[in-house]
Amino acid sequence: MSALDAGALLDQPLLQPSEVVELEGLLAQTLRTGGSVVLCQAEAVTLLEAVASGVAGPGNRVLNVVTGPYGALFGGWLRRTGAEVFDLVAGHHGLSEGSFRKSLAGMDTVALTQAEAATGADLELAGLLRVAGELGVLTVVDAVAAIGAEPIAVDDWGIDVAVIGGQKALAGPAGVSAAAISERAWRRIENNPAAPRSSTLSVLDWADGWLRTDRSRIPGTPSVLETRALLAALRRVHAEGLDAVERRHRRARAATLAAVGALGLRPWAAEGRRAAICTSVALPEAGPGLAGVLQPGVLEPGALLAPGDGPLAGELFRVNHYGRAAELGMLLAGIDRLAEALGVPGEREAARQAAGTAWEETA
Ligand SMILES: *Cc1c(COP(=O)(O)O)cnc(C)c1O
Repeated sequence: MSALDAGALLDQPLLQPSEVVELEGLLAQTLRTGGSVVLCQAEAVTLLEAVASGVAGPGNRVLNVVTGPYGALFGGWLRRTGAEVFDLVAGHHGLSEGSFRKSLAGMDTVALTQAEAATGADLELAGLLRVAGELGVLTVVDAVAAIGAEPIAVDDWGIDVAVIGGQKALAGPAGVSAAAISERAWRRIENNPAAPRSSTLSVLDWADGWLRTDRSRIPGTPSVLETRALLAALRRVHAEGLDAVERRHRRARAATLAAVGALGLRPWAAEGRRAAICTSVALPEAGPGLAGVLQPGVLEPGALLAPGDGPLAGELFRVNHYGRAAELGMLLAGIDRLAEALGVPGEREAARQAAGTAWEETA
């Protein structure tokens, strides 16, 4: 590591309360809420666990919509609280409002994941939240993968808890996460005798140590680098414009889908259910294309071209077009590699053209 890198990472000035106040404001703007935002000094999965532990307990009946591995994890944390948890599996076709409404009967809480990074699948979130609102059900949304790639309108959609992280479309760090929490959700958590206190999993600690104070002292020992990096990421997002960043992700989705089609592949998620953060592509049927995609070095976890996680590895691969990768030049480089791997170099130009046109034509 060069001296310059060490200088940027070490001996940072103390984190100032004013930086946290600015961060709170930018997070609220990003979540489109005038309500409160909590910060968590850990990655988003920890905050999701904290939320599950805070909103649920014995006596609660929770509908847990499972669109992929994150939803399944959330169900486990809910069950640990003693709540009655009902899983509703929504695959690559999403979930209809009718079946959602039926499943919500008798529930007091619903948990949904928007944009599963593992599957590239989206829900028709605003419509589903409207149904939950009509029934008075408390709503918890894992928006870690959606935030920055597609609008999450906490206030307009009546989301009670929305959890986000910086590491996906916001192109920021993974070490600090945040959640919008409504007044109703605060009452639920405060009245829950099982809600954690004096714990990493306590959102009430942040309320007592920061939200209900004059904000002159940051509680605990903040992760200076991570918190400052999240602030830098959000400043960059809002300098470009949140709408513009979301548009870049829509364009990346359209360009990827166009290229995938031109290369003779098909998307895994159903039409209208495809997330703006990544495109999951059904693996080609057995043949030279399949062998080419699966040869070592083509798909790499976390890279632009990534394998499916766990059991999904045999079904799909992913084009992760989020954050800085939501950019035409990077996508074209990925398309080149894919055409090469599939053994169809002749289709490369057509795929690049299709991607470029889709990018230009997407509003
Ligand atoms: C990435 C992601 C998370 C957060 O997982 P980390 O392990 O903190 O990166 C949570 N939910 C969804 C839907 C995600 O895509």
